[in-house]
Amino acid sequence: MAERTLSGVGVTPLSGVGTVVWYRPDADLADPPAAEDVDATTELARFDDARTEAEAELKTERARTAERVGEEEAAVFDAHVQFLNDPQITEGVTDAIEDGLPAEHAVEQTFSGFVEQFENMGGRMGERADDLRDIRDRLLRLLSDGERVDLSSLPKGSVVLAERLTPSDTAQLDPTRVAGFVTVTGGRTSHAAIFARSLALPAVVGVGEGLQSVDDGTEVVVDGEGDRLVVEPDEETKTAAAAEADVHVRSGDVETADGVGIEVAANVGTLADLESAVDRGADGIGLFRTEFLFLDRESPPDEDEQYEAYVEALESFYHDRVVVRTLDVGGDKPVPYLDLPDEENPFLGERGIRRSLGPDSALFETQIRALLRAAGSADGTRLSVMLPLVATLDELFDARETFVSVSDDLESEGVAHEMPEFGIMIETPAAAFMADRFAPHVDFFSIGTNDLAQYVMAAERGNERVSDLGDYRQPAVLRAIDATVSAAEGHDCWVGMCGEMAGDPALTELLVGLGIDELSMSPVTIPQVKEAVTKTDTESAEAFAAHVLDADTKDEVVRRLADDDSPAQEN
Ligand code: PEP
Ligand code: MG
Repeated sequence: MAERTLSGVGVTPLSGVGTVVWYRPDADLADPPAAEDVDATTELARFDDARTEAEAELKTERARTAERVGEEEAAVFDAHVQFLNDPQITEGVTDAIEDGLPAEHAVEQTFSGFVEQFENMGGRMGERADDLRDIRDRLLRLLSDGERVDLSSLPKGSVVLAERLTPSDTAQLDPTRVAGFVTVTGGRTSHAAIFARSLALPAVVGVGEGLQSVDDGTEVVVDGEGDRLVVEPDEETKTAAAAEADVHVRSGDVETADGVGIEVAANVGTLADLESAVDRGADGIGLFRTEFLFLDRESPPDEDEQYEAYVEALESFYHDRVVVRTLDVGGDKPVPYLDLPDEENPFLGERGIRRSLGPDSALFETQIRALLRAAGSADGTRLSVMLPLVATLDELFDARETFVSVSDDLESEGVAHEMPEFGIMIETPAAAFMADRFAPHVDFFSIGTNDLAQYVMAAERGNERVSDLGDYRQPAVLRAIDATVSAAEGHDCWVGMCGEMAGDPALTELLVGLGIDELSMSPVTIPQVKEAVTKTDTESAEAFAAHVLDADTKDEVVRRLADDDSPAQEN
């Protein structure tokens, strides 16, 4: 039988070959008995027991996820515990039981109401609907004593197909046994997508109802790079996928085909991420998101705790560069004990450097003390520091003044320290426009395309309704990147990129052609990007970049990137 293809959204640029295993957590309930036959006291006690048991399970899964994937992903289980104990939800279920429903029907009815409300809100709130479904299914399973399909012990080479995968489901997937997963629903920013990237699993989401036509036991190729699922693949497709799956990890520095060194570094959030950065062959850390040291706790880490974390990062990358970003909270990064203001538009409010120079100035000083001490302790490794969300030169100067005054304090206290390399992120249109004025005052720029695309296009990151607009392949975003690189030319200022765009191997040639010196990404795609660097010739990459930059629309950019429309063909 000839192979057929279903399109979706690839969330990792990885491929896997395997056999379909459908995962259908069964949430269908039989009709409830008549209200007078339901004993409310018994049902309330059953609901209470299920909640207690669910909370215990969530805590175990949280610990397992923190160990296997990382703190960032584990944090989702804290949100589940909060939902589980939410007074409005508990009251809804209790009222429904008192009105004559058995516990499972009361759970189903109450949660479905909240799921619908969150879905209607769209954007990030809409994504919380998945969390609610996850808790609902957990409670229903506990209430029905049903056996949950064990995703952690699937046969080797399984490709999991599902309507959707909740965080609890994905946390159970064992990357050594599962060849990938494909879901009917979901987008690039869904929890399942984040887990896939952390576990380096081939995954395609948002395939739509057509996925239901693929039966259990069918052979498939999950082609994350090609945004597709190939059903009953022919030998050629399978061989190509297997070759891609067998990715070659290079641990040394890489050069383009004509000998230009490009640094391929890792973005890390937790110390657990450092391990995968080393495993995937990172040349250093291009972005250490220090806010993760501040999450999931009741008070900020003190100077010594931060110092230890920075030193650990430096020790993992002996002789390489480690770029630490100062605290970047606000916007989509809440930290409960910091008492962030309630703002209409948090992405346009007090976030990043604005907080460090304002209400979080004491925290900023503590962080700088820890950073300067870590820089002083670095033996062979280079610590660099960069500031998030800079929009004005004054912010840069004020922040640098704080660095100098902290350094003076450490000097007078006789504490070993050093001034690190100093840079800024280019994440705002203001910084891109003013890049020529910033360049003489910094050692480097690091382009944060996640925020830069959001602000250039006025399209909220993570909001699926405007994801096409907020795409980093929009010509306006490419122009902002090009302007930044050009502004740095002639100054002693290297240019890196640490947004998601840097980790897309389909764009490596373009980025090298635009003149980016360092690419930093989540560890999963480091081998593919390194491979792409070695195949790039800078001279043709420059011509290619000029050709792509000349496009009028995103579609045209995409076509030119796919090389259907190369400069050679035009001549
Ligand atoms: C960015 O905005 O591109 C970036 C790397 O920072 P973050 O994703 O942490 O906001
Ligand atoms: Mg950012």
